[in-house]
Amino acid sequence: MASEAGGAPLVGVLALQGDFLDHEAALQAQGLRTRQVRAARDLQGLHAIVLPGGESTTMLTLLDVEELWQPLGDTLRSGIPVLATCAGMILLAQKVENPSQRSYGMLPITVVRNGYGRQLHSGTFRLESDVLPKDTTGTFIRAPRITAVGPGVDVLARRGADPVLVQHGPLLAACFHPELQPGSHPVVERFAAMVRKHAVAGVGL
Ligand code: GLN
Repeated sequence: MASEAGGAPLVGVLALQGDFLDHEAALQAQGLRTRQVRAARDLQGLHAIVLPGGESTTMLTLLDVEELWQPLGDTLRSGIPVLATCAGMILLAQKVENPSQRSYGMLPITVVRNGYGRQLHSGTFRLESDVLPKDTTGTFIRAPRITAVGPGVDVLARRGADPVLVQHGPLLAACFHPELQPGSHPVVERFAAMVRKHAVAGVGL
């Protein structure tokens, strides 16, 4: 993929495991450059970063194996835009249940892993939102469920009564998978706008 060519903002996509290729394609469709992040050196010069869906427990193991836990944490805390989907959201959450596990803790929410049931209860559902287009849907795959939202967290979309898209400053996190929607998804578009705004402000690492 000629992902780093050109002068568009550069978005790192954590590529240890999970659906990082779909995220890269979705971001490139927005005209952004992407870089797969597998080692600490890949974090240099990023304008934004994506934590994809996958299996959060496996990601935690691989972050240790690759000695990425600390450097990735520094990048996530640096103020650049972050998009975290599904397992990625679990990595950011302040509190993780079912079972409880380590996380970066910088997003003040509580999540229950596989909170909508396992594979049989996965699917695409209509979202309710004041900021996304009316017909927006989200694809949930063994998704985490947000059971508590702390101060300073904006709930941007719900599935029924549950928050499923939240924003906390530069952190945008979804229980579902916007990157899987063919064409583009409003959440990817929102993130791309955040990235462009931030990059124009000239705040790179
Ligand atoms: N069930 C996974 C976990 O707990 C998340 C699933 C996903 O990312 N689609 O980490």
